[in-house]
Amino acid sequence: MPLKKFDKILVINSGSSSLKFTLFSMSSKTMLAKGLVERIGTPNANLVYQRDGEPKMTQGIAAENHGKALAMACKMLADPELGVIKSLREVNAIGHRVVHGAEEFSDSVVITEDVKASIKRCADLAPLHNPANLDGVVACETVFPNVPNVAVFDTAFHQSMPKHAFMYAIPQKFYDEYRIRKYGFHGTSHKFVMLAAAEHLKKPVEELSLITCHLGNGSSIAAIKGGKVLDTSMGMTPLAGLIMGTRCGDIDPAIIFFLARKGLSVDEIDNALNKRSGLMGINGIDSGDMRDTVNAAAQGKAAAENALNMFGHRTAFYIGGYYSLLGGADAIIFTGGIGENSAPARRAILSRLEALGCKLDEAKNKAIMGTAGAITTDTSKLPAVVIPTNEELMIARETFRVLSETVKK
Ligand code: ADP
Repeated sequence: MPLKKFDKILVINSGSSSLKFTLFSMSSKTMLAKGLVERIGTPNANLVYQRDGEPKMTQGIAAENHGKALAMACKMLADPELGVIKSLREVNAIGHRVVHGAEEFSDSVVITEDVKASIKRCADLAPLHNPANLDGVVACETVFPNVPNVAVFDTAFHQSMPKHAFMYAIPQKFYDEYRIRKYGFHGTSHKFVMLAAAEHLKKPVEELSLITCHLGNGSSIAAIKGGKVLDTSMGMTPLAGLIMGTRCGDIDPAIIFFLARKGLSVDEIDNALNKRSGLMGINGIDSGDMRDTVNAAAQGKAAAENALNMFGHRTAFYIGGYYSLLGGADAIIFTGGIGENSAPARRAILSRLEALGCKLDEAKNKAIMGTAGAITTDTSKLPAVVIPTNEELMIARETFRVLSETVKK
């Protein structure tokens, strides 16, 4: 397969009111430009645009829907002065982030009418995300009529989980009728750092056991053995698992009935657990941001200190469990805004894992911000390594792989 055939790959991450785009050249292994249109459908829509290595620029645009937003983004990409391509005909393929593939998709796929219908069906499980992702697909079909589109699902990588890990111990009929089970999210990021970790550790993926921690506003952790997910912390929805920016993670489910009986509506409880909980709920400064939490803790604010300890405790709890289920691990991998940048958050986790032979190197931990490298001592039995994630690049690679395989068939 000549590389040129799918050289320029556009990656689209379409949300309900925003559309992010990144253009890659696969042959030169470079990101050419990226940007986003935000506040789609409002009079204040903006286009943010950045060529690789250059400053960001922002301009107000008219973007009443996703089609218009994409058209404006494309106009910029092919602009004679500010663009990076001469014509839109240079775009060979488009990769789309799709949040939920349910049990229908365990790999990335070329988008057909059937695939679109399946993504629509999966919207039952991701009512805010999948329809917005589909809006991006439809916009691309209009602007790029003969260019193949590929869907890359957040859930697909986790489909390798065994049944005893993905089932909930609730009546079987809920699974049979509604497909209520653990799906897991951030799969594209977990897969990207798994592949990068294999390179970093100089060991094939098939021989590796890893615990990958994607810690950002949303956080999840995965136990991966031989390239397959053994378990992951998010569940049927991204509310489960770790303590996040504003999401509660694991709680006793009976809290929900208790609050309902106290008179809170379902929507109020939903809002409290998704938008007012996590760090924001407990750190005493009403912020879901880890930097703010760490700063407040450093100033001696007890609630923020407790929030940092809760975050470390919960994450370490998962790592300990996964370490045991994996039968030991080659490394813990940290990624995401917090995992890549926050030395205090990493310390709050790793200081609780000494029993596994994990020895934090304070100097390395402080020095690593947004770059790859070990943060444990050279003699640490269980190394911890920071690897910056790149979900857009992973989507471009998946798009290239799936299309190349299709052409070969
Ligand atoms: P999202 O899940 O929205 O993609 P990110 O991966 O960007 O989120 O992570 C956002 C989190 O990362 C915030 O809690 C923020 O405080 C934290 N973060 C980002 N940069 C830094 C930094 N330099 N130091 C500490 N924390 C950081």
